[in-house]
Amino acid sequence: MFVDSHCHLNFPELVEHLDDRLTAMADNKVSHALVVAVNQPEYPSVLALAEAQPHLYASVGVHPDYEDVVEPTVEWLVAEAQHPKVIAIGETGLDYYRLTGDLDWQRERFRVHIRAAKQTGLPLIIHTRSASADTIRILREEGEGKVNGVMHCFTESWEVARAAMELGFYISFSGIVTFKKAEELKEVAKRVPLERMLIETDSPYLAPMPFRGKTNQPAWVKHVAEHIADLRGISVAEVADATTRNFFTLFAKAKQS
Ligand SMILES: [Zn+2]
Repeated sequence: MFVDSHCHLNFPELVEHLDDRLTAMADNKVSHALVVAVNQPEYPSVLALAEAQPHLYASVGVHPDYEDVVEPTVEWLVAEAQHPKVIAIGETGLDYYRLTGDLDWQRERFRVHIRAAKQTGLPLIIHTRSASADTIRILREEGEGKVNGVMHCFTESWEVARAAMELGFYISFSGIVTFKKAEELKEVAKRVPLERMLIETDSPYLAPMPFRGKTNQPAWVKHVAEHIADLRGISVAEVADATTRNFFTLFAKAKQS
């Protein structure tokens, strides 16, 4: 069994064909998926999926790429996190690639999420792009020893992976690891201990080989696992077992059923 630790199944291109997506998950032995929130207006659609489907879970948070939106407060995040199907805070983090200029608001929003994670004890889902030094620094300042979580859709160096793991974080690989040119990332995927690894699709984005360029879906997380197994010279079952176990260890509020 595989678990997709990060998808956006509530996005129109996926939810429009929800029955097909869920059937494909079952056909590919993808037992569970975490539907990740990106902003407040779309959050109800994330929660609705998790409420309707026993094997889907939700997170609550506001993605760093949404600039002109209502800022989430610690109170809002903590209140929403009381819901039994909300198992994580995020996605949050820093993105200096998509946005430039004065990004103080982005760092402040990140700190708000870390504070909510501390209060609730829920893990953080971290997005970091061209901003790894600040991401690690702020995590240390706000939460060292008090929060854990996952570096989602990991594309950074081994040094960043190691720093994140030292803070108690897991490293999640997406379809990017299957791309031919992602040589450095493949090396990281060989080195990260299996007990610290998660897998994800980040669908509808980043479809793995051999579906690159198509609309991604949770069922295809299997191809991420197959590629990592190949890289490491181990069985797909080993990757599946470890990453599924890790998912339910990190997101302890989720119940395996
Ligand atoms: Zn995402």
